[in-house]
Amino acid sequence: EGKRAGKGVYRFFHAEMDGRLRARAELEAGLRTAIESGQIIPFFQPLYSLAKDRIIGFEALARWQHPTRGLIPPDEFIPIAEDIGLIGKLSQRILRDGCIAARDWHPDTTLSVNISPVQLRDAWLAPRILGILAETGFAPQRLIVEVTENAVIDDVSAAAEVFASLQRAGIRVALDDFGKGYSSLSHLRQLRFDHIKIDSSFVRTMDSAESQKIVSAVAGLGRALGMPVTAEGVESEDTARKLRELGCDQAQGYLFGVPGSRSEAAHMLAGNDAERLAAGLRQAV
Ligand code: C2E
Ligand code: MG
Ligand code: MG
Ligand code: MG
Repeated sequence: EGKRAGKGVYRFFHAEMDGRLRARAELEAGLRTAIESGQIIPFFQPLYSLAKDRIIGFEALARWQHPTRGLIPPDEFIPIAEDIGLIGKLSQRILRDGCIAARDWHPDTTLSVNISPVQLRDAWLAPRILGILAETGFAPQRLIVEVTENAVIDDVSAAAEVFASLQRAGIRVALDDFGKGYSSLSHLRQLRFDHIKIDSSFVRTMDSAESQKIVSAVAGLGRALGMPVTAEGVESEDTARKLRELGCDQAQGYLFGVPGSRSEAAHMLAGNDAERLAAGLRQAV
């Protein structure tokens, strides 16, 4: 009896693994064409200034508009792109499309893009980014490059050189998902970042005293190091209010806007401006 159940479980597990491997193999086979044919597109999520109470930028987040499967989230294809050497091509595509979309925005609005730690080993990364900015006419001062901290940055001196070339050109570099990785503090010591983004796992649990203390300490760390701190994953007014009290500069999250298409982003920004204008008029009257 027990033996049979065990076998069933094994078979089920096997079938599930099989399915997952097949799904991965299919995505892997389609990814190169998807990048080349423009199926990988950026969505845009607002970056909100808690001090100024308005949208100050957008983060480009990759989506795969799959012909049969619909919109596929990045967690399903970014790791594949990293594994099979396509992450550089994918990032260039997101950056180029992001810069083109950002032409619709107010010229103060920033664009943030994500890069994978593996890309930091590429000596051509900075020149390629600068090339795309020149080609699209996007000012380097408006670009923020976010380095996701899901892996240790293994070659710190190569990364430092990439950062330095980007920063010399006026591009800012943000440490993404701060606190989630295993070497956050050593990264902060060894590399020069311009911004810190606190991982959403701390922000989402801010009703606990521990998380609040951690967020408060990171905000203090940012102030001490002269790096504005962004809280990720802000979903409630309560959290936003606490973040303001703790001296957190910026926030992102569903409260301020979910990632949307290029035209949705332009709409969010227009709403933002209309509100600001209305507030200004009310003040003037
Ligand atoms: P990330 O850069 O830390 O981006 C934040 C993620 O949190 C996004 O997920 C965003 O949609 C989600 N998010 C934002 N606000 C909220 C909220 O209030 N609640 C919840 N539950 N989630 C929220 P997304 O778009 O699925 O992206 C996941 C990760 O994939 C990104 O994390 C980033 O590490 C990676 N990624 C996305 N696009 C790219 C890309 O073009 N290149 C690279 N290398 N990585 C990318
Ligand atoms: Mg990011
Ligand atoms: Mg992340
Ligand atoms: Mg993040």
